[in-house]
Amino acid sequence: AIKKGGNQIVRFTEQLAKDSEHQRLIANNLADALKNNEFYLLYQPIYSIKEDRIVSFETLMRWKSPVLGEVGPFHFIPLLEKSEAIIDVGRWLIREVAEQVLRWEKEGYDNFAVTLNVSIKQLQYEGFLSDVHAILGETGVRPERLIFEVTESIVAQNVKAAAQILQSLNEIGIKTAIDDFGTGYSSLSMLKSLPFQYMKVDRTFIIEVLNDNGESEAILLGLIEIANSLGLTTIMEGVETPEQLKILKQIGAKRIQGYLFSKPIPPEEAIKFLKKRNLL
Ligand code: C2E
Ligand code: CA
Ligand code: CA
Ligand code: CA
Repeated sequence: AIKKGGNQIVRFTEQLAKDSEHQRLIANNLADALKNNEFYLLYQPIYSIKEDRIVSFETLMRWKSPVLGEVGPFHFIPLLEKSEAIIDVGRWLIREVAEQVLRWEKEGYDNFAVTLNVSIKQLQYEGFLSDVHAILGETGVRPERLIFEVTESIVAQNVKAAAQILQSLNEIGIKTAIDDFGTGYSSLSMLKSLPFQYMKVDRTFIIEVLNDNGESEAILLGLIEIANSLGLTTIMEGVETPEQLKILKQIGAKRIQGYLFSKPIPPEEAIKFLKKRNLL
């Protein structure tokens, strides 16, 4: 920008101003979004290679603002996480998912789990476990229907504390997944000391798997071996093509999530995936 002279710098500054204006607009509208019922949930199917069926769904939050329209999670989740609002929204999310699971059960669909994303502030909040207990008690949802996902970077911040909470979740009967694995800073000894049942391998390796000289495949193979030796079930994120699936199958991946099967969809549509026989 500097080489081309002042003009571009001006434009760059304008863009920044616009961005922060936009940020402020989002933040202002976000304040009442929960109260005004503007959040809703989509579900993305997760396929088990061995069982050849959909074994779970990941819950992904959406926000439809009457002022701004649909706002993507990358724009509003970091803002929620910056404030205390994520605790209330997170509590709402767990309850919504529990109620959706029960609606599906009523319709006769109960042989799958539902995963949801838990933020650091939520996990560190001292009322977290009692909130979870209360939601389980009040809704009557079985804990084994739920899986909580936490990102690698979250647990790396305070391994001991994270281990304790995750352990408590396991004791309640809720399984846990380490999310976006391979992108953060976790060491293998840290992974060993954390009570996870699932490893979600980040999309970045899957994107490259057919385009590089085998480096991504080698990394994926290594991650799968580590997961296997620690007793973790691998879930590969962001699988978009049959070619990617083929390689992942060959190197022993267990579960697959991505546009190859479906983008995140509303709960009514999710049922179609539970009915379907031939998924591939
Ligand atoms: P994430 O937890 O890693 O979720 C996976 C993201 O990858 C989702 O983006 C999903 O739509 C997208 N995805 C799935 N399959 C494919 C694929 O084949 N190709 C591509 N290109 N993308 C794929 P989404 O829904 O935009 O969510 C983005 C992030 O926002 C999530 O990343 C998660 O960190 C956060 N998020 C979403 N919902 C929640 C929530 O309810 N609570 C919290 N705390 N965070 C959430
Ligand atoms: Ca996730
Ligand atoms: Ca992820
Ligand atoms: Ca991610």
